[in-house]
Amino acid sequence: MVQSRGYAASQSGAPLTAMTFDRREPGPRDIVMTITHCGICHSDLHAIDDDLGNTGFPVVPGHEIVGVITAIGDEVTRFQVGDKAAVGCYVDSCRSCDPCLSDRQQMCATMIPSFNGLEKDGNHRTMGGFSTNYVADQDYVFKIPQAMDSARAAPILCAGITVWSPLQKWRVGPGSKVGVVGLGGLGHMAVKLAAALGADVTIFTTSDAKGADAIRLGARNAILSNDDAAMATIASAMDFILDTVSAQHDINGYIAALKPEGTLCLLGIGPGGLQIANLSVVFGQKCIAGSLIGGLHQTQAVIDFCAAHDVMPEIELVPHAQINQALDRLRRNDVKYRFVVEMTPEN
Ligand code: NAP
Ligand code: ZN
Ligand code: ZN
Repeated sequence: MVQSRGYAASQSGAPLTAMTFDRREPGPRDIVMTITHCGICHSDLHAIDDDLGNTGFPVVPGHEIVGVITAIGDEVTRFQVGDKAAVGCYVDSCRSCDPCLSDRQQMCATMIPSFNGLEKDGNHRTMGGFSTNYVADQDYVFKIPQAMDSARAAPILCAGITVWSPLQKWRVGPGSKVGVVGLGGLGHMAVKLAAALGADVTIFTTSDAKGADAIRLGARNAILSNDDAAMATIASAMDFILDTVSAQHDINGYIAALKPEGTLCLLGIGPGGLQIANLSVVFGQKCIAGSLIGGLHQTQAVIDFCAAHDVMPEIELVPHAQINQALDRLRRNDVKYRFVVEMTPEN
């Protein structure tokens, strides 16, 4: 067994407190890594608050995990001790179903999430990256280029892949008019990646102060979504809109902003549900879609794309002792644009 120390919520909505726990015994195909950095995703807050009703407590959240390999099993071929590596949202799946064979492992019925799941040994719950180390099968671990900044790499493991996957699926590129709703962790990566792919990007934000930032990040246009006159200027203008909002909100203004046959893709998993103006969808032959993180190869592809094009997350680095302050600020929508927790110093 590998002993780990982490920050856990003991019950719904509780602040994280230090906890010691055991990870499973590493096998021949496993790596052990010391975690140096872990991003804070809004899904971590949803898990702490048990918004989906499926959190097992105590829970150690954190699924944007970057670190350094400290031990490898006898059959490990992809990594060596000392390599930078990363773990994202899941750490295993069946490997034989249709989604697993087509790089959509996130859709596998037996996918094991990197926290709040059960390890294959059936004895250990998976605990996330707000902790000192991780044990994972090499096939579910990503390579981080040695030259890439580990702290800024972390948010690519969830925020990056979650927006990259739909941008690829809907073939966003030069000539695409793309809207991004919400300039947070996912939203700012959506702006950067869509712009890097050559799209003409519009940000829809509720925060007046973020408009100028969105332009700096690559958007061509910033619209205050609670300003009806501004919303009217972009009616029927967008090919594709990615909605990254973490809470219940009105999506009908975004449906109106789509061209006929356009697609609104939902990424947020906040509770409460959404209401859809069916006439606008039917008469415009519009599509409301959803997307969940991304596949293993696609995740490595977005890491490599970010390295090649220098498209890196904008982060605020916080020491692990201040994790609860960072979580509180994320609750208040006070982050530009992703908190990354420094778990242990590099080297
Ligand atoms: P985040 O950093 O908190 O960003 C969410 C953004 O939504 C905020 O920055 C804000 O943008 C906007 N917003 C917040 N509350 C709002 C409200 N009441 N009404 C309208 N807009 C509001 O969160 P995140 O980490 O990017 O995650 C976003 C959502 O995606 C969460 O629900 C998360 O759990 C989910 N998620 C899904 C997947 C997936 O695979 N589908 C993966 C990761 C995360 P402005 O200030 O610009 O308005
Ligand atoms: Zn996430
Ligand atoms: Zn499978």
